Amino acid sequence: MTDETIKVVVLGGGYAGIMAALRVAGKTKRQPTTVTLINALDYFVERPRLHEQATGTPLHGKPIQEMLRGSRAKFRQGWVKTILPDEQVVVVDTAVAEQRLPYDYLINALGSRVDRQIVPGVDEYAYILDPYGNLTADMLHKWLKARGARPFRTVVVGGGATGIEMAAQLIGIYPLAAATLITQGEAGAFKGPRIQKHIRQALAEQDISVVEHCRVLQVEPEQRLR
Ligand SMILES: Cc1cc2nc3c(=O)[nH]c(=O)nc-3n(C[C@H](O)[C@H](O)[C@H](O)COP(=O)(O)OP(=O)(O)OC[C@H]3O[C@@H](n4cnc5c(N)ncnc54)[C@H](O)[C@@H]3O)c2cc1C
Repeated sequence: MTDETIKVVVLGGGYAGIMAALRVAGKTKRQPTTVTLINALDYFVERPRLHEQATGTPLHGKPIQEMLRGSRAKFRQGWVKTILPDEQVVVVDTAVAEQRLPYDYLINALGSRVDRQIVPGVDEYAYILDPYGNLTADMLHKWLKARGARPFRTVVVGGGATGIEMAAQLIGIYPLAAATLITQGEAGAFKGPRIQKHIRQALAEQDISVVEHCRVLQVEPEQRLR
């Protein structure tokens, strides 16, 4: 007897993955289909708010099971290790064991991550706005909290939305901090000249120094103010 069920596997439980799983489950109600969503964490991380978490606002991630409730999509927590397209199998590391999940259709919504290897020192010394791994948003919060009421210096790298939001949030919550924003091109260039002008003005009003057209070649350990 052959299994006629169509297996849809969705990788990643961010905005894209959750939406995809819910939509596919809804649209295939009358077909013999299973929809399985796989994500590293068992709760939803609002990435656009990680700079808030880094400065002390708890995110209270919603359980993914709860978000899928009422749909036919099933959740499985695990780390996607390998996709074997020839066999139509995904290999997933779960808390219990390595599992092989067969699929007919695969939706890859694993998002993106900061490349920690390309610039020497990033992996060891730089915080990134990620929910898991080493030197994450949560660990940055602990570091910031430990500064107490003393002045300290920070460098934020990246003149896109994430870097600008991070620098502005940092100064807003920690007024004794000094922040320098370093970027390859121009800060805020992604939004066109009118908004860029406004962004630059807002950064200047917060005393955030902006260093443009500059590439970070190496990151070294933190140096404390004397
Ligand atoms: C600080 C900050 C501010 C931002 N502000 C905005 C904004 O204002 N507006 C805007 O539109 N965008 C903003 N963004 C970008 C936005 O967050 C992303 O575009 C969006 O999260 C992408 O959604 P996604 O579902 O594709 O990926 P993600 O949200 O990254 O989701 C991917 C999921 O896959 C999981 N995953 C990854 N690898 C594996 C693996 N191997 N195994 C299992 N699970 C895995 C991750 O844990 C995650 O849950 C911001 C981002 C940041 C960091």
